[in-house]
Amino acid sequence: MSSISTQLDAVRKRIDKACQESGRDPQSVTLLAVSKTFGPTSVIEAVQAGQRAFGENYVQEGQSKILALQQWAAQQSPVPSLQWHCIGPLQSNKSRVVAEHFDWVHSVDRLKIAQRLSEQRPAHLHPLQVCLQVNIDGGAGKSGLAPDEALALALQVQDLPRLALRGLMTIPEPAADLAQALSVHGQTRALFDQINASGKLHRPLDTLSMGMSGDLEAAIAAGTTLVRVGTAIFGGRPPVAG
Ligand SMILES: *Cc1c(COP(=O)(O)O)cnc(C)c1O
Repeated sequence: MSSISTQLDAVRKRIDKACQESGRDPQSVTLLAVSKTFGPTSVIEAVQAGQRAFGENYVQEGQSKILALQQWAAQQSPVPSLQWHCIGPLQSNKSRVVAEHFDWVHSVDRLKIAQRLSEQRPAHLHPLQVCLQVNIDGGAGKSGLAPDEALALALQVQDLPRLALRGLMTIPEPAADLAQALSVHGQTRALFDQINASGKLHRPLDTLSMGMSGDLEAAIAAGTTLVRVGTAIFGGRPPVAG
């Protein structure tokens, strides 16, 4: 087994164990493999180990990897069906690439960018699946909406024709311990429940994108439905490339 497949296995076991401990069905938590800074070869290894959903932060890097993997996948039998999630900060001048190449985007934090993504989503593709990024702990200089702005944006985004509103995403500051991680993830969970309880959405949110290599157990205990894991699968990244 390659080290990527070994590490994927270890992450899946962590997810299963955390689900067991909080009485949740392991099927209720999606594992998103965050492949930023790693090349197509690493992604292929993960696909060969059964992984299908990948997250990318940098739009251009993501685009070239998506195209490389499409070429590779077309030669496989059966052809694996991959899902690509954009989880990095969104700039207006990159929105077209996101709309044309990704299946999901987790980092929508303003109406303007949502409108552009909807306008630019090609008609032959399924609607772009969207999470709103919330700055849950008020970290300075971080992307994301203030929690009390999330419902209003959700109401606007749900009416954009080429987008499908699915949920919320957060990237909290690293927590000092498990209790602190639980507390901040619990706040996001409460916001998620509160938005659904408003009764104002056409369809309830079903995706809570929170938890990474270091805090996925706390996120699962708090009710996350999707964990975004990079380091624990692919190894460390060079600090500068982020
Ligand atoms: C890099 C990144 C991750 C993965 O973080 P790890 O600690 O390597 O698991 C998850 N989410 C976002 C938004 C990221 O940028």
